[in-house]
Amino acid sequence: MAYLIALDDGHGLGPKPTLGKRTPNISGVGVIYENQFNRAVVNYLDTELKRCGFRTILVAPTDVDTPLSTRIATANRAKADAYISCHYNAGGGAGVETFYHTGSSRGRRLATCIHNQVTKGTPQKNRGLKSGNHLWVIRKTNMPATLIEFGFMDDPGLVEAKRMIDPAFQKECAVETAKGICEYFGVSYSTSSSSASSTSMPSSYPGSLIRKGSRGEYVKMIQRALGGLSVDGIFGPKTQNAVKVFQRKNGLSVDGIVGPLTWNKLFP
Ligand SMILES: [Zn+2]
Repeated sequence: MAYLIALDDGHGLGPKPTLGKRTPNISGVGVIYENQFNRAVVNYLDTELKRCGFRTILVAPTDVDTPLSTRIATANRAKADAYISCHYNAGGGAGVETFYHTGSSRGRRLATCIHNQVTKGTPQKNRGLKSGNHLWVIRKTNMPATLIEFGFMDDPGLVEAKRMIDPAFQKECAVETAKGICEYFGVSYSTSSSSASSTSMPSSYPGSLIRKGSRGEYVKMIQRALGGLSVDGIFGPKTQNAVKVFQRKNGLSVDGIVGPLTWNKLFP
């Protein structure tokens, strides 16, 4: 049977984003929450891995910040073959670092395969492999596990911080991680036939939350997809209500905000 990969997008967005896990206020952009990046990468990674023949399980599929114990139990119960946790760092440094358990040679190899691909294929600086023995998702999971901090939310100049909402960068992180996972399992990585154009396709998630007060083409697309609304490109109370109804019908958390999960249900 195909290998099963547990995918963990660190932290959460709803009903309130995880406190402290965000960028400083970036001029012209605002605040970016860590989970916006983590969940986007996990969504892309999910697609990449399935195309390469893996099965996946999302251990935190909703907007809420799922407790670590739940994430770990979900992966252990499903007997996943590997556990991949996606994060973005804070503390004022720069670059990507990848964690593994020093008592697990398979965990180290998994982390090494992914880290080498990510540092080769993205513009991020290389901070190296690190012991993750203190990290719950690495210590308490039964399978080889790794946690990747793809960059810093508060790097000097906020260069890496701004990349968090760049769909091309999010996708690149997912592609490189998928290549590393393929290498670890000895599975050949198959390229997406439309990979060159897919990040600019209008149906792919724009990379930041669309909510009350948002305006523009993406809002028009949402209004058209929901139906029964005037397509004016202005996200007002009527659009918000229609989003909530749609979320309730589709088993999503009902916050009236279009994030990646709602977007992907609207534009499958
Ligand atoms: Zn984090």
